[in-house]
Amino acid sequence: MTQRSLFDDDRPANPGTISSGAGARPEGSLTRVHEPDPAYTPEERSARMAAVREQALVCTRCELCQTRTHVVFGEGTVTTPLVLVGEGPGETEDATGRPFVGRAGKLLDAVLAENGMTRQHIYLCNVLKCRAALVEDGRLQNRPPRVEEAAACRDWLDTQLAIIRPMVILCLGSPAANAIIHPNFALTRERGEWFTHCPYAPWVMAAFHPAYILRKHDAGYDAARASLVRDIGAARLKVVELRKAAKAIAGQ
Ligand code: URA
Repeated sequence: MTQRSLFDDDRPANPGTISSGAGARPEGSLTRVHEPDPAYTPEERSARMAAVREQALVCTRCELCQTRTHVVFGEGTVTTPLVLVGEGPGETEDATGRPFVGRAGKLLDAVLAENGMTRQHIYLCNVLKCRAALVEDGRLQNRPPRVEEAAACRDWLDTQLAIIRPMVILCLGSPAANAIIHPNFALTRERGEWFTHCPYAPWVMAAFHPAYILRKHDAGYDAARASLVRDIGAARLKVVELRKAAKAIAGQ
């Protein structure tokens, strides 16, 4: 599907598994329509993102700049209505400068594909732009981001989201949900729920991080993977619903 048809077609891409019914849908939600700022053309939007990226690539706002190989800024379509936000680069991302290119990224690609999507349909970035790692047994090992690192990196994420102004954000894992939805986010309880108070997008949801799913086994793995397929499908269908509502309002 092209970006346009994907986000205009309300048939589930994967009829067996997709449901748009995850979480609460507040009354009057269809009037919360949000479109990219018409003051910027797609070309201007790309140029702004490229300029911010250039600045981020030489960022020294926290000590992670001393151990990184590459800044992993993010990539995808700047005119997309749907942004996915992960935690931060791992080893493969640090080595390549691209988000989600390791095992977790392969799982993410597979789950997007089950929803008829590719990375071209979305914008993909992280809370942290540099790998958070510590030396263990002489090797760098991934570690969770520290509060001060996420704070130092915050401006980059805010700017990316302000340029794109997506309709829907899907947070992958707790660090993204903590940063975008609310602190102390309880992923197992609150994933799949829609939040409508965020300044970055009118509709925000959190889903399991692919790396978390990869740490599970057997039935636990299958259930967590199916939930990510469903949540990505719900995010797509939310965009479809919002675009329909926008058209209906414009046609009134
Ligand atoms: N995990 C993330 O959160 N982001 C990446 O880019 C890769 C793995």
